[in-house]
Amino acid sequence: MTTNGTNGVNGKTVLPKAKDLWSHLSTEALSRRPSPLKTAFKYAIDPRIVSLGGGLPLPAYFPFEEITATAPEPPFTTYNDPETAKDAPMVTVSVGRYNHSDDPGMIPLATAMQYGQSDGCKPLLAWITEHTNTVHHPPYSNWACLMTVGNTQGLDAALRLLTTRGDTILAEEYTFSSAMETANAQGVKPVPVKVDLEGILPAELEEQLEGWVGPLPKFLYTIPTGQNPTGGTLSSERRKAVYDVLSKYDILIVEDEPYYFLQMDEYVPGVSANKLPPPPTLEQDPEKHTKFLSKLITSYLSLDVDGRVLRLDSFSKVMAPGTRLGWIVAQEPFIERLTRQNEVSIQTPAGFSQAIVYSLLSKWGQGGYLDWLVELRKEYTHRRNVCLDGLHEFFTEKGLSEIVTWLTPTAGMFFWLQFNARKHPLYGKLTPLQLETRIYEAAIEHGVLFIPGSWFRADQEPVDESIVPADDEPVNIFFRGTFATVPQPKLVEGLRLFSEVIAKEFLG
Ligand code: PLP
Repeated sequence: MTTNGTNGVNGKTVLPKAKDLWSHLSTEALSRRPSPLKTAFKYAIDPRIVSLGGGLPLPAYFPFEEITATAPEPPFTTYNDPETAKDAPMVTVSVGRYNHSDDPGMIPLATAMQYGQSDGCKPLLAWITEHTNTVHHPPYSNWACLMTVGNTQGLDAALRLLTTRGDTILAEEYTFSSAMETANAQGVKPVPVKVDLEGILPAELEEQLEGWVGPLPKFLYTIPTGQNPTGGTLSSERRKAVYDVLSKYDILIVEDEPYYFLQMDEYVPGVSANKLPPPPTLEQDPEKHTKFLSKLITSYLSLDVDGRVLRLDSFSKVMAPGTRLGWIVAQEPFIERLTRQNEVSIQTPAGFSQAIVYSLLSKWGQGGYLDWLVELRKEYTHRRNVCLDGLHEFFTEKGLSEIVTWLTPTAGMFFWLQFNARKHPLYGKLTPLQLETRIYEAAIEHGVLFIPGSWFRADQEPVDESIVPADDEPVNIFFRGTFATVPQPKLVEGLRLFSEVIAKEFLG
């Protein structure tokens, strides 16, 4: 466990400690004891002690002498432009079996590939802790980080930490379906919270909790930035209001934030369709990191005066999903319990991954990593713009604006199309769910895939279709699309194909 630990030192502001929230821990978390073998680990790696006790293989027998990787070099101004990427400057990072004194920025394979360090390799953990402090400034002193195998495992761990079979959690009405399955398999019931296209409605949340019957939910599971599936990003004001409501009811928050750094600049219609990303603007600016950081939306972690937030972060969307590297930020007592959990589950993320990612990060430096994120922001802004221009061209200009609406995503990878089911000629004969399936299948037949919104319902109960909505009540069906995955021409083609399906379905 690497703790923030610097607050209060050398005249810096002294932050208060987190509230004692130990009573929120699950039966499982409370029963965890340190693995006895792990307690001896510190002696097994102490060079003054002859260790015949630990079951550690001799690093000389690891069949890996060195691993190397080639990656772009900051400031990445040409890397993502297909025209110039081939000439982009590259750096090579290499990790050897043992430490070289001339390259302190590496975790030697003898360490990275060895047992131990259940909260993650120390140098990487220290790097992540510094990064977290720079970006979020958590407003209490005893927070810490722990490495995970990405947010999928991070959520599994958070559920084990905080819930017991039969408990409930809150989640956005439409949410990441794998997360709901993780809860479901642990016997934990997600209860949906009302949202609009931006995200959670704090007043509705408060009303829901006021009228709650039975034990309160254990935590709110939320994806506040670039939400999956809606693409919505909750404003700082609403985050603060949600935090206050949950604080009033003493409910914890698990913020799942893989899309946090995919926040975008403003959408200017029509300027970017079929063109390359805008030319670099910030590269020469000495203030660029400060400006970039100041544009990022307030995280729940930065509002967390109580220590009631567990933040799940991941390299999946900003480096590659296959790194299988993420981390949890939370108050130390929670991180200590999660370390016990890692000891007997994942042990630690793969040594290959930690070693190579750390080498790259230490070569780039904290500033170089921010440069990378600055460039990603530009790329995603451009893709989002192409997507919105395409939606306008294929849906609005083709007379479908009465049928379909969308919110401009300001972060993430997704856009969420809302269809007025009442406008479908078969509305009344077919239920909204049947209409959704019909459109999904027609789209596949026509060569394009969009994911039906109902697949993301937090409420796993079957929809009661016998309830007839009032005449003035909107009846919507939704589809999720992404602008992240395919090359730009394919994105435009996919939008065109889908608009043809919709025009045929709704207009005949
Ligand atoms: N959480 C959300 C909200 C996601 O959308 C995804 C990816 O699809 C994940 C977690 C998975 O993240 P990871 O690759 O870090 O496990």
